[in-house]
Amino acid sequence: AAVNGTHAQAFRGVVRLQAELTGESFRELVGNGYLVVTITPNQGERYQGIIPLTGDSLTSTLEAYFAQSEQLPTRLYIFTDIQQHNRAAGLMLQVLPVEQEKARQDFADLVVLSDTITAAELLDLEPEVVLNRLFHQESVEVFPAQNISFVCGCSKQKCESALFSLGRAVVAEQLALGGLDMACEYCNASYHFSANDLQLIHDQL
Ligand SMILES: [Zn+2]
Repeated sequence: AAVNGTHAQAFRGVVRLQAELTGESFRELVGNGYLVVTITPNQGERYQGIIPLTGDSLTSTLEAYFAQSEQLPTRLYIFTDIQQHNRAAGLMLQVLPVEQEKARQDFADLVVLSDTITAAELLDLEPEVVLNRLFHQESVEVFPAQNISFVCGCSKQKCESALFSLGRAVVAEQLALGGLDMACEYCNASYHFSANDLQLIHDQL
């Protein structure tokens, strides 16, 4: 499975299956594997954290990632409701990299409170209500909500670049077949290359 996201909360994702899914638990469904997180800043070097799947959930794996790669104590709660409404809800607690000692103690206290959250509360209640229920002894400051959207950056031009990098032999092969349809696995868009299009690419290789 791969998910791409930006700081503007624009996401796209794809899951590829190699066999029929069996089992119910995270480990039965996914098997052994790794979580790879690649962060590409607008400026500066790209960096990557790789950790083996940990425990029996995506939640525990992500917590392990933050502990190991970012050294930030993190607690995640993720609940899904795919039976009835096809929805998910989550809560993430994380120590901000300020005032280490106090932050760590506050974090431990907030985890105790957050552990009481139920799937029904997180799925059904407004976020402000959940926060006030959990942390009513604290002063809760709610930042403006950000919209999350599905955005795919694919285009015919990018498919064309891919064909250029695949090389002359591959393009010739497709040309002999009379044309090519390329499908984007993220958004299911389809890009058609006619024999004419392929001939033009072939001539430039
Ligand atoms: Zn796409």
